[in-house]
Amino acid sequence: MKQAVLISPGRLEVVDAPLPEVGAGQALVAVLAAGICGSDLHMFKEGSIGGIALADAGGPLVPGHECMGRVERVGAGADPGLVGRRVFIEPAINCGQCRWCLAGKPNVCPHHTFLGLPGQGGCLAQYIVHPTRLCEPLPDDVSDDAGVLLEPLAIAVHSLDRLAVAAGSAVAVLGAGPIGLVHTMLLARDATAPLIVTDVLDYRLELARRLGATHVLNPRREDVPAAVAQITGGDGADFVFECAGQPETFEQMVRIAAPAGRVGVLGIHGDDRLPFTHSQARRKGLDVLMIRRANLTFGRALTRLRDEHLPADLLATHHWPLEKCQQAFETAAAYRDGVVKGIIRPWE
Ligand SMILES: [Zn+2]
Ligand SMILES: [Zn+2]
Repeated sequence: MKQAVLISPGRLEVVDAPLPEVGAGQALVAVLAAGICGSDLHMFKEGSIGGIALADAGGPLVPGHECMGRVERVGAGADPGLVGRRVFIEPAINCGQCRWCLAGKPNVCPHHTFLGLPGQGGCLAQYIVHPTRLCEPLPDDVSDDAGVLLEPLAIAVHSLDRLAVAAGSAVAVLGAGPIGLVHTMLLARDATAPLIVTDVLDYRLELARRLGATHVLNPRREDVPAAVAQITGGDGADFVFECAGQPETFEQMVRIAAPAGRVGVLGIHGDDRLPFTHSQARRKGLDVLMIRRANLTFGRALTRLRDEHLPADLLATHHWPLEKCQQAFETAAAYRDGVVKGIIRPWE
């Protein structure tokens, strides 16, 4: 089979690899569509993400963790009914035994592995093997692209849970990349208002508006804290989702939050630091919550996708075959050509 490997920062290659062995409880999945995530781009550009380095892989790394595919075969003890079915993949392989897994918090399992990080091959490949317990059947009415976008959508469902957003509250989303946009899509359906979205890229702000943002702000032209104060009658935003991972947005998230507000941090910055003005956060008594991936929220993400007809496909702006992965990553990393979510199709 073919797979993409990250040889060194900035350099992907497509290579031949043996078909992976299917163990007990596992499925061999033909990957039909795989998304390029911001975290893949950190690894591509900087050779590390959140303190985990490409060098830790001890050799070339197959990137990618957002994907869907078709089950080709299952190993011993796995449900043979899955064979032939389209599935989406929960990329975090938790241990299932530790106190956090048992307490319903597998997203913080200390013993987990994750697709596309050192220790676990990623999904930019024609096939992966994956535990069948983490392969969820996809209904026929869910497109391949939407199946890929269930991963970020599940993160947003978890994030909204953590902050316990109340309808009618003023909400701000800082950053209109795929994570910010899936938040926007859900928050608009949850009737939060005003729903303010910021980004430095106007084409992403346009999409945020289509997805239900009531106000969009470009910090290159507007003073975000002043504008949020004006929109919210001086109060600030009750809930803030930081989805950009920039020092500027880490600072803005506490400046624009209302007293007793809640802030969720989803963005990741290359230097692994979270700087903001302490007095701003303290005087307002803010809850600053660190959001860790999705947490048993794939099923609800799928339900919301279908029941609320979420236009997730709008985010999947670009498609490339596996051979073009270098071009795909370069385009996504440079925000070229109006790209939002780039999708690799390993069989095209
Ligand atoms: Zn991701
Ligand atoms: Zn565990």
